[in-house]
Amino acid sequence: MRLLVSSIIVLNLIIGAPEAKIVARGSVPKLIALTFDDGPSDPYTLKVIEELKKEKIKATFFLVGKKVVAKPHVLDVLVASGQEIGNHTYYHSRLNWVTERKMLDELKLSSDIISGYTNGRVKPTLFRPPHGFLPQSKSQAIQKAGYTIVMWSVNGDDFYHSKTGIRSPVSIAERVLSRINGGDIILLHDISQQTVDSLSYIIRPLKRKGYKFVTVSELVRLSGRYALALKKRPPVTEEVNSVLVLPMQKIKPESSYFESQPNYGLPLPGPEDRSAIQTWPRRLFDR
Ligand SMILES: [Zn+2]
Repeated sequence: MRLLVSSIIVLNLIIGAPEAKIVARGSVPKLIALTFDDGPSDPYTLKVIEELKKEKIKATFFLVGKKVVAKPHVLDVLVASGQEIGNHTYYHSRLNWVTERKMLDELKLSSDIISGYTNGRVKPTLFRPPHGFLPQSKSQAIQKAGYTIVMWSVNGDDFYHSKTGIRSPVSIAERVLSRINGGDIILLHDISQQTVDSLSYIIRPLKRKGYKFVTVSELVRLSGRYALALKKRPPVTEEVNSVLVLPMQKIKPESSYFESQPNYGLPLPGPEDRSAIQTWPRRLFDR
């Protein structure tokens, strides 16, 4: 299905469709979007931000609403450092396991939380489905609710596998570099030290090749313009690197994330808790 989604969006961008509603990659040869899922986490999101600052680039973070409530100070730092914020549901629910109504409820709740904590300054319009599950009917409902759905074209595979562990930083980077082309949207997770340590191995070689890093919104916007300018299929860019992907390493994640992964199927917060969201301290931009 990813291939289908991908080709749809590339086609959309090439013919200059006014608004891309499902994005898996862009079409500008020298642009790349880094995306991070499953935060905010402390310290890993903060460490990722530091790496991005060092490299003077911006990325897009798809946040889990429940985690924002647990670590609102990390949202502050994300916003203050100019990163783009997207919605990744409230509980990290698989969309094929929840009803459409509950799914829309989760999306709204997460967006309300992010908007509430940032005093309305950030209202997410990008959404990434947890685990990439995107049933057709729900995809339409999400777009109808006003979101652009963001998939990915290169998966860093930087998450913990119960049998094989988690990749080393170099292995994550080599996997990404061996697959990359201009316009790619890279999927990573801001929940482990391995990902943090992989970033310089990913970013620096690509910069040396002349690639620029942008947020997903920028990639979509510039891809549309690029397509209009070309009015024909953009050239396929060269392979950045052809390297062997190293075997996975068994490293236990330091993060407690995996034990604290939200349970599926829990009820969402009731009306009382939600009204509290409206009155959450407007900590960031009131001053
Ligand atoms: Zn996720």
